[in-house]
Amino acid sequence: MPAKEAKPKNIIDSIMYRYSTSGSPYEEENRILKETVNRLKEEIEKYQSSPLMVCEVKELFGNNSIIKIPNGNQFLVNISNNCDKLKSGDLVLVEQKNLTIIRKVPITRRFNIEKFVIVEKPNISWSDIGGLDKQTIEIKEVVELPLKKPELFKKIGITPPKGILLYGEPGTGKTLLAKAVAASTNSTFIEVVGSELVQKFIGEGAKLVKEMFEFARRKAPAIVFIDELDALASKRIEVGTSGEREVNRTFMQLLAELDGFKPLDNVKIIGATNRKDILDPAIVRPGRLDRLIYVPIPNKEARLEILRIHTKNMNLNNNVHLESLVEKMEGFSGAEIKASCTEAGYFAIRSNRETVVKEDFFKAIDKVKEDEKIEREEHLGMFG
Ligand code: ATP
Repeated sequence: MPAKEAKPKNIIDSIMYRYSTSGSPYEEENRILKETVNRLKEEIEKYQSSPLMVCEVKELFGNNSIIKIPNGNQFLVNISNNCDKLKSGDLVLVEQKNLTIIRKVPITRRFNIEKFVIVEKPNISWSDIGGLDKQTIEIKEVVELPLKKPELFKKIGITPPKGILLYGEPGTGKTLLAKAVAASTNSTFIEVVGSELVQKFIGEGAKLVKEMFEFARRKAPAIVFIDELDALASKRIEVGTSGEREVNRTFMQLLAELDGFKPLDNVKIIGATNRKDILDPAIVRPGRLDRLIYVPIPNKEARLEILRIHTKNMNLNNNVHLESLVEKMEGFSGAEIKASCTEAGYFAIRSNRETVVKEDFFKAIDKVKEDEKIEREEHLGMFG
């Protein structure tokens, strides 16, 4: 019996195999070569065709639609006959030259919003905050009371502010106040940073704002905390570049969301900024973040309260007198007072001690002052 022939591994083998088995080599060879040419033609076409652009359908009018292209501009375009039925909000692929809608992308664009914002149930209590009694009372009245006792406001017939704006130097406890009110009302704390909204999620800022508020309503009671609000809501003389237009759109969406809220909804908005001077007045108009609360650099008494809070769990030597330490901390923010405590602890650890002595604090205070000076110089180097 003749030895069994091996199966062909590639086109050449295949031709040879057929040649040796069928006896009609040219027909078969022709067929295989045609198939190969067709496949290669298809492949070349793929390389030559221009890409389709992904756009969003804004509105539909019969066989036309308004679409938004990725840079934010909108166009009235035709819809191809082969396209599936569309609705506003759908993502579609459009021809680059004439923007005709070719087909629908079978996914709806939804953020997993929790990937973009910080969501937590904070456990900061009012007693963790030092020297901000006046601010605490005001926040309790404006945010806590309406969330806890909305019926009281209905009875009396007044509407509480929808949100507040905390403004003041960095590190003075603005975030802390917002977290404390979220904790005291058992609210979900949703934090977003203004500069991230406009830098990280280019083209998506407005959508993100919209979805963030939808998310807050689903998670209510909720506090939406927008840090560095000035990055989003600063006065603009003219809106020229596409980047500025993008920031402006995000800001407009924020205003629309604020306007859409009812004051007694159980979602409250807290904005925070170090630069109230550059804020667009639109954001603080009545019915928006119209309660402004100044969070100052702590005075001597406030510094002492803050120092007490941050040294509460520290093992202090008897020679540590908090009253005299705060004298040396003139101009320190709450964050700097906290940093001094941590640094003092490190000086003790480096000296192999288990108690913190006053000299540790002195060195720590000098270090914090030095760090602050370097930071200020770097900042001036960059912007000054
Ligand atoms: P930024 O403007 O830079 O965002 P901020 O005003 O929001 O700052 P926080 O983040 O609240 O400042 O403060 C930073 C840290 O400093 C807090 O986690 C806290 O440990 C400490 N701190 C600041 N202010 C106080 C305060 N009044 N009482 C107690 N601790 C404080």
